[in-house]
Amino acid sequence: MDTPKERTGWDDRELEASVDAYLKMLSLELSNQPIKKADENRLLREGPLSKRSASSVEYRMQNISAVMAQMGLRHIVGYVPAKNVGTGISSRVRKILAEKNIDRFRLTPEPANQQVTYRLIEAAPPHADDVPEGILNPTQISTATIRYARAKKISDWILKQSEGRCEGCKQKAPFLRSDGLPYLEVHHVKHLAKKGSDRPKNAVALCPNCHRRCHYSSDRDEFTAWLYDNVARLRRE
Ligand SMILES: [Zn+2]
Ligand SMILES: [Zn+2]
Repeated sequence: MDTPKERTGWDDRELEASVDAYLKMLSLELSNQPIKKADENRLLREGPLSKRSASSVEYRMQNISAVMAQMGLRHIVGYVPAKNVGTGISSRVRKILAEKNIDRFRLTPEPANQQVTYRLIEAAPPHADDVPEGILNPTQISTATIRYARAKKISDWILKQSEGRCEGCKQKAPFLRSDGLPYLEVHHVKHLAKKGSDRPKNAVALCPNCHRRCHYSSDRDEFTAWLYDNVARLRRE
């Protein structure tokens, strides 16, 4: 909510300046560059938002996150969508956004990439019924051929249901494989070497960075705990 001294409504110029700053930060975030929210906030208040307080600018950014989410667009992770956007503000922000180059922020891929998604879905719809059984104890499978075939089925399923996004950082796969599918790696949350199973409840699709993080980073235990808390399919083994 705006503070009482700011009862005066936001004009379009102020909203547009907020939207522009927001999209600039979102672009940076999506290309894994640091964003300095406090600096952007200050710059806005030194310029077009000179009538507004820091907290009010901050709240406006959260409003924009809410509208972005409603429009099926990605939003800045650090600005949690503030749902109680005044209806007037919400539709004006929406209108301003519609004039911007926002297609690149869509959560579902645009036509150029959609072929990939369609191929994934045709190959095996990610319904719960399709969850493959997997292998409780892969090291005890007797023939290498069967073991490979089954493991491949699990990893294919894990990759399909990820819909091309890392289940750690939620970013799109960093690049496409030579066959046109998104490049992600399958990680066994409880490592196979520690007798973790090769089953959907113990496997995640990760980008190479998040995968290395699970194995080598100083916060790998915390990151692993985070995966258990945030990927509903996973169960501790
Ligand atoms: Zn990742
Ligand atoms: Zn791994």
